[in-house]
Amino acid sequence: MSNEKSKSIHEFDFSLIADYFSNLERQGPGSPEITLKAMSFIEGLSEYSRIADLGCGSGGQTMVLAQNTPGHITGIDLFPIFIDQFNQYAKQLHLEDRVIGQVDSMDYLPFQEEELDLIWSEGAIYNIGFERGLNYWLQFLKQGAYIAVSEASWFTSERPEEIDAFWKDAYPGIDTIPNKVAQMQRAGYIPVATFIVPEICWTEHFYAPQVEAQEAFLQKYAGNKTAADFIANQRYEEQLFNKYKDYYGYVFYIGKKL
Ligand code: SAH
Repeated sequence: MSNEKSKSIHEFDFSLIADYFSNLERQGPGSPEITLKAMSFIEGLSEYSRIADLGCGSGGQTMVLAQNTPGHITGIDLFPIFIDQFNQYAKQLHLEDRVIGQVDSMDYLPFQEEELDLIWSEGAIYNIGFERGLNYWLQFLKQGAYIAVSEASWFTSERPEEIDAFWKDAYPGIDTIPNKVAQMQRAGYIPVATFIVPEICWTEHFYAPQVEAQEAFLQKYAGNKTAADFIANQRYEEQLFNKYKDYYGYVFYIGKKL
């Protein structure tokens, strides 16, 4: 297969996946309560604060942030379909003067050095890797500014082979909480807090809304093998979560630039 062709197939996959997730309010595990909990560790925000939400998706968590801080927020996501939804959502909530979604990549950010008072990123830093993201993003934060990210993490130092193998394939950057905290510290942040994103954020807020979305998606793409495989994979992931949720989950890491 030529590069040209494999590239177009890859892009098609991405647009399918973006289409699927754009029908959901959240694209990752979380909830408004958990966004607020993470925010409770962050001090000193004002109407002059500059905040970035990286990998914002359609903006569920960004609007919660916006309704609870007076600052200016830029949402960054790679996919225009999410950013369109994000900007519509901001408008509906009359937040469009200070909440703006922009298509860009989290590994090539449109900010100045030391411009930001807070970087937010729920369930998205894995796209470029936790360590790499923390290292690269540091330059955009003012001294004493905060970062809050949620990231897939192991809860225990050992785990059953099946789930270990699944994650090593899906995201080899998954690691234990103390190792992630050490990575954060090495990258130049004071680790301020960590907490486990509760199970309900997976079951009720992430997986439950997908049941209906999956049916609709399979109907829309009836006969499309890529679509069917994608849904089968989503369902397999959920089964694994139910079986092995004692061993892993999302963890919020809050840090402060030294
Ligand atoms: N924060 C949202 C979305 C999490 S899903 C929530 O918690 O619901 C991960 C998001 O990262 C997706 O919206 C995906 O489009 C985005 N993404 C993937 N790679 C990216 C990149 N390189 N730069 C910016 N966004 C990216």
